[in-house]
Amino acid sequence: MIGSVASIETFGTQDGPGIRTVIFFNECKLRCIYCHNPEMWNKGIKNYSVEELFLRIIKNKEYYGENGGVTFSGGEPLLHSEFLLELCKKLKNENIHIALDTAGIAEVDYEELLKYVDLIIFDVKHINEEGYKLITRTNNFNKANKFLSVANKLNKKFWIRQVIVPGIMDNCDYLIGLKEYLKRINNIEKIEFLPYHKLGCEKYIKIGIPYYCENIKEMDKITCENLYNKFLEIYNDNND
Ligand code: SF4
Repeated sequence: MIGSVASIETFGTQDGPGIRTVIFFNECKLRCIYCHNPEMWNKGIKNYSVEELFLRIIKNKEYYGENGGVTFSGGEPLLHSEFLLELCKKLKNENIHIALDTAGIAEVDYEELLKYVDLIIFDVKHINEEGYKLITRTNNFNKANKFLSVANKLNKKFWIRQVIVPGIMDNCDYLIGLKEYLKRINNIEKIEFLPYHKLGCEKYIKIGIPYYCENIKEMDKITCENLYNKFLEIYNDNND
């Protein structure tokens, strides 16, 4: 079995708790308008066997400490579910903490894989079908929701990520809707807002594909922080 990997980050501290090795898999079925990794949408040229990736991950085991471990990201790591299942079985024998950074879109059954995952970092694309289509340019809203049901049934821990795109998510109605949307998840440990930025724009020019966010202004960090604080007020208000 072979996994198509775009890159590997060692000593990562952003994608899960503690110090982590972050594996970025190639391939994704979504086409998010703000994606800054369009070069990962398709299969790449660098392939790893389960054993090769396993050895790469446990090489840094001594640095992971109590909280750290490995994060599978992408692209969409769930598209490599069978490969990951074999890899995760081996990693669990070594007691490695496993996080999965995903939008929840897969072609095959992933329930068995999720049993080995300690933390899900879930990217909310949008809270309704129409918005989901606008952001991802695909019709996978129900697939993402199904993923949340399956993972929630397994009582998985979640970190939630929401990219804030100006004109789409930066309003009270969206924040209230987001609270409602997240009610389907029992075990949320953390929610993050990420300001939309244009850092990936040049890649589109290089690859020669249209950049759909060309006319959307970047979200400034302060406004994003203020929105986040507003959201927390709404989220923690139990009077509804
Ligand atoms: S899910 Fe991630 S990798 Fe896939 S298109 Fe969206 S932002 Fe890009």
